[in-house]
Amino acid sequence: MHYTDAKSILSPKNGMNLYRGCTHGCIYCDSRSECYGMTYTFEDIEAKRNAPRLLEEALRRKRSRCMIGTGAMSDPYLPLEQTEGLTRRALEIIDRYGFGVTLLTKSDLVLRDLDLLQSIHRKAKCVVQMTLTTYDENLCRIVEPNVATTHRRFEVLMELKKAGIPTVVWMTPILPFINDTEENIRGLLEYCKEAEVKGILTFGIGMTLRSGNREYFYKKLDEHFPEMKRQYMRTFGSSYGIHSLNGKVLGKLVKDFCKENSILYGTDAIFTYLNTLNEPQTQLSLF
Ligand code: SF4
Repeated sequence: MHYTDAKSILSPKNGMNLYRGCTHGCIYCDSRSECYGMTYTFEDIEAKRNAPRLLEEALRRKRSRCMIGTGAMSDPYLPLEQTEGLTRRALEIIDRYGFGVTLLTKSDLVLRDLDLLQSIHRKAKCVVQMTLTTYDENLCRIVEPNVATTHRRFEVLMELKKAGIPTVVWMTPILPFINDTEENIRGLLEYCKEAEVKGILTFGIGMTLRSGNREYFYKKLDEHFPEMKRQYMRTFGSSYGIHSLNGKVLGKLVKDFCKENSILYGTDAIFTYLNTLNEPQTQLSLF
């Protein structure tokens, strides 16, 4: 890993990435794509050591509170977070200033910060977003090799439910010919139901491939699924959007399931939910 000093930390939509690069090893990772212009190895994590100071300055300048998001380009709970603590420090600042937060992760390390997540949720709002793609644990260890498996993530969702923290599941990407089966989707949906998740995002049933992540994905296909690369090339050519041939059936399955179980479905509905702050439940005297 290496350190950097960032020029700014919050995007115009109040998203932030405290780290750059990732060691979770997901074979489909879009963040590896060349368009993001990384000049070093993806696994050589860049930690933005001045991020807490920048965040505090940015929140102090804001005229009104809002939701702060993290986890879009790099998991905020990389193993490195155990020693670097940038995510925890950011949460402490968000808590102190009474802002809301939503973070996207695949790691059970998020439970370390349950105290802060609950405090933020009491004052404003906290939503944990968790990715679930692969119900079969053995397959999950191949597709997402260096992070908590799907069953462990389900246990985390249950812990968050018990703690009163709302959750949203990213059921994406779904990989054609690998996990785009009804059995897989039904297994994940049952986890979502038991954990009483607030919403499920799919962005269609499929994945994306472009320069950078395509080469890595194909390399992993060769390692774990002989002949599969040829099937992908034959079926999808050099398309960016890779849609499951079972997409219609699986998409309907998810949509109907969400409707039956009063789970939010659809990108607009879920992002509106994620970006909307609750009224504070306790009196704030922070500014
Ligand atoms: S957790 Fe996200 S950023 Fe990390 S390897 Fe997986 S897909 Fe990429």
